[in-house]
Amino acid sequence: MSAVIIDGKAVAATIREDVAAAVGALTAQGLRAPTLAVVLCGDDPASAIYVRNKGRAAERAGIRFQLHKCEASVSTADVLRLVAALNDDDAVDGMIVQLPLPAHVDTAAVADAIAAEKDADGFNPANFGRLAEGRAAPVGATPLGCMELLHSYGVAIAGSRAVVVGRSLLVGRPLALLLTNADATVTICHSKTRDLAGVCRDADILISAMGRPGAVDATFVKPGACVIDVGTTPRAGTVVGDIDRASVEPVAGWLSPVPGGVGPMTIAMLLRNTLALADARRRPAVVV
Ligand code: NAP
Repeated sequence: MSAVIIDGKAVAATIREDVAAAVGALTAQGLRAPTLAVVLCGDDPASAIYVRNKGRAAERAGIRFQLHKCEASVSTADVLRLVAALNDDDAVDGMIVQLPLPAHVDTAAVADAIAAEKDADGFNPANFGRLAEGRAAPVGATPLGCMELLHSYGVAIAGSRAVVVGRSLLVGRPLALLLTNADATVTICHSKTRDLAGVCRDADILISAMGRPGAVDATFVKPGACVIDVGTTPRAGTVVGDIDRASVEPVAGWLSPVPGGVGPMTIAMLLRNTLALADARRRPAVVV
């Protein structure tokens, strides 16, 4: 057996085309195109590349893109002032603050400050709480991208055993909640998990978001399981994932590789989130 290789580039391209068509329909009606604002603090080269790619994809889809750059020495107060200004700016529909922030900036305070209705990456704890309750909420683009890949390839989620390796607020925890809300039985693993390979071997759906190149080999994989690699570690001008593809591909039923799997989905889902936030802001508030 050899795994079906999940083509995140192709799935993402379809989503970007759908978003572009929806944005085109808005502007054809004389409505303003959605606007995404990105706050980038410091000079982390990987973050600069991610933000540049997000900007290009947004503009290709007809979404207006604002880049707000801050020095690495920026204070928490200055970031909070910028976020407040974007909250108040009626032209901005969605915003993200690119992580990681410089170590001295209070990331939790910044997450608290992003208006829930402009939170394009599900960063605000109120939105995380809604997700935990199983209510509709903006959710981070990377976990949403993983879910979209499962749906696109017809992987059965309801009733399955899912294992998520990684418990970050950005990836692991929201993903575990999305899978729970979709009726999977979910285990979250982390660096203190005992017998990680044994826990993972129980999974029908195994998603690795550790950032440990090649750490997951065939001994972690139940034959026929769907394996999604979220991990990305820069190496020699490219990125490598957590999954040891050579050993896992013959065992898994599906494999989402790095590169070409979740990465392109993250950008596509960010565009979809921005469109959804713009649509929601345009709808008149329901008065009860
Ligand atoms: P993170 O905040 O560093 O979290 C990593 C998680 O992995 C932590 O929960 C950590 O456990 C766990 N972990 C680390 N080593 C482990 C081990 N040996 N055994 C079991 N668990 C282990 O990273 P993140 O932001 O979630 O990102 C995870 C990976 O995904 C990174 O490689 C990142 O670059 C990548 N990523 C990719 C995309 C994309 O678009 N493709 C988007 C976001 C992130 P503890 O909690 O115990 O420390």
